[in-house]
Amino acid sequence: MDRLDARDLASVLIATCEMMSGRTEELTHADQVIGDGDHGLAMERGFRAARETLAEEPAPDDVGLLLERFGTAMLTSMGGASGPVYGSLFRRGAQPLKGDRAFDARSLATFLEAGLIGVQERGRAKVGDKTLVDALAAAAEAARASSEESLGHAFAAAAAAANEGKERTRGMRATMGRARSLGDRSIGHVDPGALSFALMMEAWSAAVDRAAPRS
Ligand code: ADP
Ligand code: MG
Repeated sequence: MDRLDARDLASVLIATCEMMSGRTEELTHADQVIGDGDHGLAMERGFRAARETLAEEPAPDDVGLLLERFGTAMLTSMGGASGPVYGSLFRRGAQPLKGDRAFDARSLATFLEAGLIGVQERGRAKVGDKTLVDALAAAAEAARASSEESLGHAFAAAAAAANEGKERTRGMRATMGRARSLGDRSIGHVDPGALSFALMMEAWSAAVDRAAPRS
């Protein structure tokens, strides 16, 4: 099975949110090192709100509307710098998928590319600034390169690339957000937002594998 309809995608996203609830401490710790320590709780709030929204309302037929709804729940529940970042990722990523009734490998690439543009228009971070953008841009590129493969393979490639992008932030000096004030002392630590994005892609990929095993 190489595509998910909106109802299956809703179940996959709910499972992703559930898996992410086990990552709060890791994200809190990452943000304690180079930020103010609230990123774990922000993500926990965002994923809980998104899960509740998807679980309570019947899924629309439209995968774009579903992803937009997910992003609105994150945007309105999280606050901080990461609320608008995740809100832009999902809400802007959803736009080119409006009207689609299925989500496949090409949809993933389109979603990540449009989401990246939305995040960058909103926050102005470039690749190399030590933010979530470093993991997201890597994932978008890998997803596009895998967009003719199965959905499971495309997700696995995107998640692996996100993880590599997250690891690259370790060597970077922060120029955006709170970590900027640390200057050179931010070097040697991963960016918390790049970490949360990489973990989310790993969880999303695992949930897709369960719903649509790789052939
Ligand atoms: P806050 O910085 O308000 O405490 P969080 O701790 O929840 O918010 O999130 C911090 C993360 O948000 C950073 O690690 C970074 O990845 C991301 N971030 C901050 N500013 C930007 C930006 N302008 N563009 C993209 N991502 C950003
Ligand atoms: Mg913080």
